[in-house]
Amino acid sequence: MWRYLVRSAVGVMLAMLAMPGWCASDRGSGLAFLQALDATAISGEAVEGKYSLRHDQLVDAILAKILRVADGGASMRALVVGPRKGGNPYPGGPCTSSDGTIYIPADWVLTLAGDEAAMAALLGHEAVHVVYRHHLQSIQTATTLRRLGSRLDETVLAVAKNEGERERMTNVLGRAMRSVVVLEGQEQEYNADLFGAIWILRAGYEYDGAVRLLRNIKEKYGDLAYGDEGMLSGVEGSDHPSCTERLARLEEGRAQILKTAGSFGSGAGELEAGDHRNAVITFTSILRFFPQSAAALGNLGCAYHLRFWEESGMEGPRASLLVESCLEPELIAKVGPPRARKGGAGGDLEMLVKAQQQYESAVAACPGDLQARNNLAMAHLDAGRPRRAYEILSGLRPSDEKARLVILRNLGLVGYRARADAASLDASCRGACRSAWVEYLKAKSDPEIERVLGEWGGGGG
Ligand SMILES: [Zn+2]
Repeated sequence: MWRYLVRSAVGVMLAMLAMPGWCASDRGSGLAFLQALDATAISGEAVEGKYSLRHDQLVDAILAKILRVADGGASMRALVVGPRKGGNPYPGGPCTSSDGTIYIPADWVLTLAGDEAAMAALLGHEAVHVVYRHHLQSIQTATTLRRLGSRLDETVLAVAKNEGERERMTNVLGRAMRSVVVLEGQEQEYNADLFGAIWILRAGYEYDGAVRLLRNIKEKYGDLAYGDEGMLSGVEGSDHPSCTERLARLEEGRAQILKTAGSFGSGAGELEAGDHRNAVITFTSILRFFPQSAAALGNLGCAYHLRFWEESGMEGPRASLLVESCLEPELIAKVGPPRARKGGAGGDLEMLVKAQQQYESAVAACPGDLQARNNLAMAHLDAGRPRRAYEILSGLRPSDEKARLVILRNLGLVGYRARADAASLDASCRGACRSAWVEYLKAKSDPEIERVLGEWGGGGG
C-alpha cells in the first residue's frame, strides 16, 4: 500500500524543503542520491532476522501466478510475509522495500484469506510498486526538488522586494514542492491499483478483487481524504488518495477494458475485409487484458497470416481461414459489469471528465463566475465527490435570489446523495445541506424536493 522504507529518506529531504531556506548545504545531489538509496536498501535477510518473518504458501502461489503475466514480473525477487509495525497511512499495513521485497502482515493474510481475488489484488498492487521502481522514482523526485530548492532560494532572494514578500514566495514555493511529492505518490497509488487489477485479471482472477480490496481498506481505515495547509489548495495531504477516488479510477479502468473487449467484433470485421494492419492493433490491444483468450490469439494469427499472403505474392487458390467472431464470454465475465459511482449517475464517465475540465477552464478564466463554479460542483457530485461539491457550493455568495435558490437546492442535493455514505461527507456538512433544503423550501414550492426531504428523515445523515 505504501512505500514505507523510502519514507524516512524522502521525509528528511522534505523537512529540508519545508524550511524557508530549503537547502542549508548543497553537497552535490549525486552523493545525496546515493545516500538515500543506501538508507532504503535494507536487505530481505536483515528484515527477515529483525521481524522473524515467514513465507506463506497461499500467498507465494498467488504471487507466482501474477508474476507469470505481469509486465516485467521476472524482475521481482522475494516475497516475505510477516508483521510490521507503524506505517502511513494504514497502520500495520503492507509495504514494499526498494530491494524488491513485499511485506504482507500476517493479520492481512488472515483478513483476505477467504477472498483469493482480493488477496491477489493486494499482491498485484505491491508488485506494481516494485516492478515500476516507484521507490526510485520518489527518491529521484526528492533529489530534483532539493536541487530546485536551492535555486529557488537564490531566485527569491534576488527578486523579492522585501522580507514579507520573500516569506510569502518561500511559503508558496515550499507548498508547491511538497505538493509535487504528494501528487506523485498519489499517481503511483492509482497506477498500482490499476496495473495490479489488470495483472490479476490476466492471471485469471476477477477484476472485482481489486474493488473488494479497496472497500475492505476503506472499512478498516476510513476514506483518508483530508486537506493540508502545507500543500497547494485542492491537494490532499496524504500520498495515498482517498479510497473513493481510487475506486472511481478502477471503474474508469474497467470501462476502458470493456471498451477494448468490445472492439473484438470490429477486429473480426477487419480480418474479413483483409485489413490485417488494423486487425493486428485491435487484437494486440485485446490480448493486453486477456492474454489467455484463444479467440484473440487465433485472430491475431489470422492477421499475420493475411499479411504473409499479401507479401508472398503466392499464386493459385489459398486456404480458408476461420475468424472467431467474439471474445470468450467467461473472460468478459471476469471484468464484471461497469458500476455507477456511489452517489453518482451511470453514463459515460469520459464525458463527465470533459465537462469538469471545461468548467475548470471557465473558472480559471473568470474566478468569480458563479455559474461555472456551481456547475463544477455538480460535476464533482456526479463523479462521486460530494465533499468537493460541498466546499465549492458553500463558498459561493450569490447576488440574486434566483441563483441563491439554485445553490441552496444543489447544496441540499449534495448532502442527500451522500446520506448513505457517511465517510464521503461528515455529519455537520450533511446537516448544513439538509438545512439548505429547508431554507430553499421556505422560499420556493418544489414538490419533488419536499418529498425527498421527507424520505431523508430528521437527522443530518
Ligand atoms: Zn500502494
